[in-house]
Amino acid sequence: MRDFHVHSNYSDGEFLEGMVRAAEAAGLEGIGFADHCNVSSREPMAKVRSVYGFNLDLTYERRRQGIERLREETAIEIYDAVEMDYDPRDEPEIREFLDRAAFEYSIGSVHAVDGKNVQVPAEFTGASDRELDAIVDDYFDRLVALVESELFDTAAHADLIARTPPLRGRATESHYQRVARAFADSRTIPEINAGRALTDAEIVHPAEPFLEVLREFDVSVTVGSDAHRPSEIGDRIRFLEEFTDRSGIDPVAPPAISSRK
Ligand SMILES: [Zn+2]
Ligand SMILES: [Zn+2]
Repeated sequence: MRDFHVHSNYSDGEFLEGMVRAAEAAGLEGIGFADHCNVSSREPMAKVRSVYGFNLDLTYERRRQGIERLREETAIEIYDAVEMDYDPRDEPEIREFLDRAAFEYSIGSVHAVDGKNVQVPAEFTGASDRELDAIVDDYFDRLVALVESELFDTAAHADLIARTPPLRGRATESHYQRVARAFADSRTIPEINAGRALTDAEIVHPAEPFLEVLREFDVSVTVGSDAHRPSEIGDRIRFLEEFTDRSGIDPVAPPAISSRK
């Protein structure tokens, strides 16, 4: 088992080394650091970078040196990856950055729609049913654009809206079909994301009805714990092992990793 989606202190997680030690303790064969990164010149995204200190666009070379040093101290694989915020308007900047930074693989994420973070219930207080449905439509439009852009190896938490109470339950079979069809035609694959699996929300992305559609389209999937702290890795990995076993899923590595020899 390898975990292809964890964070470190190069975005909003804890030290690289602690994450690697926890991965060893969990019996993982590999761990992939996919720290948050956005390279958009649009104001809300530039604000996120400076307010939260998400600076992997400036620090990826230093993180790479850290990863190289830690590789000398461990028997497990450490991957040098990234979780990029995706918005169709930022495609040229994202492409230029990914070409330049040359990570081992890249994860693309839609975290926001119309400047609203879809993980934050408070963003949607007072919105009408029609407005909430429109947010969900826009979310899936962007996700399809992400998959069709072919910019990324992996699309993270493909039904992120399902973790947010006002948006949960609003995705439809036709949303799932559109996304699954896009995956089937793209190099980009979805991940099973356990970031909220062991919280009170008990949500695995993609949720079962969505997974079912992805199976119909014969789409491969990878896995990620989305852990931000060492203490999260062990439990989430055990969960992912059981979950994939139970669902008959044989997870694969992100395409850039599985295609290299
Ligand atoms: Zn994410
Ligand atoms: Zn993440």
